[in-house]
Amino acid sequence: MDNKILVTRSSMPSVDEYIEEIRPIWDSHWLTNMGPEHKNLQAELQQYMGVENVELLTNGHMALELSLQAMNLQGEVITTPFTFASTTHAIVRNGLEPVFCDIDPVTYTMDVTKLERLITDRTCAIVPVHVYGNVCNIEEIERLAHKYELKVLYDAAHTFGETYKGQGIGNFGDASCFSFHATKVFNTIEGGAVCYKDPELGRKLYELKNFGIHGPEEVDAVGANAKMNEFCAAMGLCNLRHVDEEIAKRKAVVERYREHLSGVDGLQLNVEQPEVKSNYAYFPVVFDEKLFGSSRNEVFDALAKNGIGARKYFYPLTNTFACFHKKYDVDETPVARRIAKRVLTLPLYADLPLEEVDRICKIVLEQKL
Ligand SMILES: *Cc1c(COP(=O)(O)O)cnc(C)c1O
Repeated sequence: MDNKILVTRSSMPSVDEYIEEIRPIWDSHWLTNMGPEHKNLQAELQQYMGVENVELLTNGHMALELSLQAMNLQGEVITTPFTFASTTHAIVRNGLEPVFCDIDPVTYTMDVTKLERLITDRTCAIVPVHVYGNVCNIEEIERLAHKYELKVLYDAAHTFGETYKGQGIGNFGDASCFSFHATKVFNTIEGGAVCYKDPELGRKLYELKNFGIHGPEEVDAVGANAKMNEFCAAMGLCNLRHVDEEIAKRKAVVERYREHLSGVDGLQLNVEQPEVKSNYAYFPVVFDEKLFGSSRNEVFDALAKNGIGARKYFYPLTNTFACFHKKYDVDETPVARRIAKRVLTLPLYADLPLEEVDRICKIVLEQKL
């Protein structure tokens, strides 16, 4: 079926633009290890994101994992289970214990009214997630982090290009991790970045992404290999030239969805946060089966039957993953459990034709009983 619609579609420059960008690589034979493309992308991103420091990495997951390692933490880390596997895995793979805080039923980010009671003398950090591009309650998180001397690492994978109160979203907490995966608003094919405050943290990250090598004859940390290569950086430089245009097109898609779906009984649409310049990354809809008449899973199946791929995102919750062998109690995060069962993200990408949005909404609304 050639009119199949997937939940997302990667943004790409024209092939000519990309070839122009990578041509110098053939002259220099410099393929990776912080070459000119890497350097340029880093500088351009500092500008675009309105931050002082950016470290580029192979992907968003290594951004999280190495940031936690660079912070040299021990003990418990408070986070949320309504996120991608990566957030929780980065904590566990660092030998840290995740403690799950419930989420806010409107923004789906960490419910800060439930945060303080989870802080113990073993807590070392908070890892909140800006879910779907919705910005966390930054002020309250900063206040508690300051009060208890905790590090704050934001999983900002969904918030590329956003601002909060006029400031680049990468400026908050000790550091913020971004994903430039092919499915994200801005991509470098695979890639990621950390925006950080403390230059010392930056120096550590730079070494950790290159095996912990400090000098030609000195290795002073057990690092990984997480360097962004020149071809990915080149893709990033091309995509960055068009990202504002891509976000504007996403906005039009989101507005079309809203025209059809807002005010419908039993549907909860994403909120617009007044202080946030949005990147229109996702279009989540929460289905209340009692009011709407059909469940999230029934709507998912109806769309699939019509060749439309929606995504149960985020489902399942990370605190229910089989790999954790029932170690965590999902009853402690009841709001996250409720939302994960009911949420569906609808297809959204810059080039999604508005007529297709109409068709998708028609199928969704046909499920209303
Ligand atoms: C995409 C994503 C990641 C991981 O990023 P990768 O670049 O795929 O490694 C982490 N957290 C969240 C919330 C994400 O959506």
